[in-house]
Amino acid sequence: MPLITLKAKIHADPQTEAVLKDAMFCATKVYNGLLWHLRKEHKETGRVDISRKNLNRILKELPRAKGYYSMSVQLTRDEVREAYKSFFALKKKGLTQHEAPGFRRKGQLSPLKYVQSGFKVEGDKVTLSLGTSREDGIKQVTFRISHRPGVEYERVRELSIAYDKVSGRIEARLVVEVKTRENSGTGRAAVDLGETILMACAFDDGTVMLYAGRQIKAIRRYWQKVRAGLKQSSRRWRQISHREKKQVEHLLHVATSHFIAECVRKGVKEVVVGNLDGIRESIDYGKRLNQRLHAWPYRKLIDMLKYKGTLAGIIVRDDVDENSTSITCHACGKVVASNRIHRGLYVCSCGWKAQADVNGALNIYEKAYKVSPVKGSSGRVARPAVVSYQLGWHGVAEPKREGKPLRASA
Ligand SMILES: [Zn+2]
Repeated sequence: MPLITLKAKIHADPQTEAVLKDAMFCATKVYNGLLWHLRKEHKETGRVDISRKNLNRILKELPRAKGYYSMSVQLTRDEVREAYKSFFALKKKGLTQHEAPGFRRKGQLSPLKYVQSGFKVEGDKVTLSLGTSREDGIKQVTFRISHRPGVEYERVRELSIAYDKVSGRIEARLVVEVKTRENSGTGRAAVDLGETILMACAFDDGTVMLYAGRQIKAIRRYWQKVRAGLKQSSRRWRQISHREKKQVEHLLHVATSHFIAECVRKGVKEVVVGNLDGIRESIDYGKRLNQRLHAWPYRKLIDMLKYKGTLAGIIVRDDVDENSTSITCHACGKVVASNRIHRGLYVCSCGWKAQADVNGALNIYEKAYKVSPVKGSSGRVARPAVVSYQLGWHGVAEPKREGKPLRASA
């Protein structure tokens, strides 16, 4: 049975929330405590032993390990192991000057993870075990959760309580087994992601659907302006980031739901999405925004496609290298960077002329499935039929709230 990750809001009374946050704080202390001991060992012996055995030994010396469920403590331990493993990998490649993985900051609440045991979900009611050794004697907490409607799942496999840096709230993340819709289709589709055209989707019947991306672009630019004068990670900055995220996510939901419904209608069984490398190059929001921020709507979009696809019995993969698909002529196969005249149109000397993202999507299709949806047996290219879809949009101007308008001051 396929698994999906569901985010859920936590509805807890203030005391319960305080207990959860305290347990998460303990997890941060345990994480940092393990790091601290490993650093000390390294200084003394020149070696780092991240075996479970050694870490379990250290855990016994950490009083905060009694602050939460023992299996969750083990999962914190495994986070430390993972941190060290990626640190070693970076070190080997000479990509870090640091001596060890970094400590978590005081305010950074570590996740409480539950796998298989220590938790119970009945409807919207969640009960979590906090072990039997907490100083305040609290052994378990109960609260309610809510997630977006329309998701039916069979069983919760994993649950974690995590801190969302943008909203500043704690939330639940559930890994659930879902029943998928029966899908006897055999069709295929390919998706090219971009900025002006959010998604160019090529189907095996030779049609291409374009989803306009300018609303998302406008939202991001607008909020970036508002944010520009603010201190990064300040309360206001986070508030604004949260609002931007909500608005962008809403549009991503609209687009991905529409596309998946279209796939179902056309009997599509498999969708391939070009990877994100091309996007990082082509988007320029100015230097203030780093690479990670550039790419987040697209990562989010791919997540949504995978998630909604899974529910509809459609396989969504993003393992096709998009490299040069945007500058390759779909008709003759020539790779000419200058062929991408303007952002909008791809024109080749062989006579092929197509919207650039349509050309890109057809190339991704061909790369993934080794066949083109619009090439006949003679190898000639038929013109794809293009359907455009505009996202619904509420505008970016924010209503005044609490007397404090959030506006870009030029
Ligand atoms: Zn050509």
